[in-house]
Amino acid sequence: MNNQTRIISILSDGAFHSGEELGKTLGISRTGIWMAIKKLSTYGLDLHSVRGKGYRFAHAVELLDSTKILRSIEASTRNKISNLDVFLQLESTNAYLMGKVNSDIDKANVCFAEMQTAGRGRRGRKWISPFGGNIYMSILRHFSSDPQMLGGLGLALSVAIIRTLQDFGINDVKLKWPNDVIWQKRKLAGTLVEMVAESTGPCRVVMGIGFNADLSNSVSHQIDQPWVDLKTILGEVPSRNQLAGKLLQQLFNAITQFEQSGLSMFAEEWRRYDAYSGNHVSLLLPKDKISGICEGIDNMGALLVRVADGQIQKFTSGEISLRG
Ligand code: ATP
Repeated sequence: MNNQTRIISILSDGAFHSGEELGKTLGISRTGIWMAIKKLSTYGLDLHSVRGKGYRFAHAVELLDSTKILRSIEASTRNKISNLDVFLQLESTNAYLMGKVNSDIDKANVCFAEMQTAGRGRRGRKWISPFGGNIYMSILRHFSSDPQMLGGLGLALSVAIIRTLQDFGINDVKLKWPNDVIWQKRKLAGTLVEMVAESTGPCRVVMGIGFNADLSNSVSHQIDQPWVDLKTILGEVPSRNQLAGKLLQQLFNAITQFEQSGLSMFAEEWRRYDAYSGNHVSLLLPKDKISGICEGIDNMGALLVRVADGQIQKFTSGEISLRG
């Protein structure tokens, strides 16, 4: 553990800790502590510094802990994971795993980050990822299926998020094709599937999840569309490690199911939560805009829209954005 990580874990209780106390615990000078704290402030951490009292976080933070997360999932799921890492900060959990090689291609690599400096959405958009309140995680795994069959994987992951929310007693969420989980028209979570099709052998797939648990942070105003977090829906923040464990378990269940039967196991469930089916929608294409009535998804996860001449057109995700 480096000094910054150690300082963060000491301050995570939300109480004041003086520079002197931190210096003694870590075996470094008060100036060293001050410099480490200054660096932490640049990460967007809500840190308070009060003369005579020391430093503290604006509120207590339950840091993610790989041992706790692994302990909370089923043994059979643990066996499918070669390693699970928790980082204080990554550019993006997807980018990190895209650059990683799985030593054992039969197992998955999982990573979580307390914050992302360049969290990714679709098509170069940003996922705002402040420190210590939410879940940013990715899973790297190999699939032997044809890459075309993986088109609906992101939709299956959204269903896994819905199932996780049901574990918390939340049922009034909706899905917006292709990758958003929304609550009362506000975005709660998103998925991002990226893949590298190898010329020989299985396809490397990175599945990323951004899930707002507690987004009450100074950077949340940067989000340019309505958002919500679990704290607002539930009225309290559940244990982050418990949430991470439940999410991971549901994601692995969904991945296994998807590998066996593709999207067919999820399509009905997805449709039940479809936010736009039957509604008038616009599709934003790179050089065009198409309007029509949303007719839901087909069994491969393509979006169906009834256009002006009454025909139903099929759209696969890539370059398209759905707007209500
Ligand atoms: P599309 O319909 O094409 O998916 P989108 O706006 O939902 O469009 P995504 O790529 O799914 O785009 O997600 C990125 C967008 O989500 C950002 O441009 C921003 O508007 C919003 N966003 C960014 N960070 C968060 C967050 N932490 N919580 C909720 N919404 C966010």
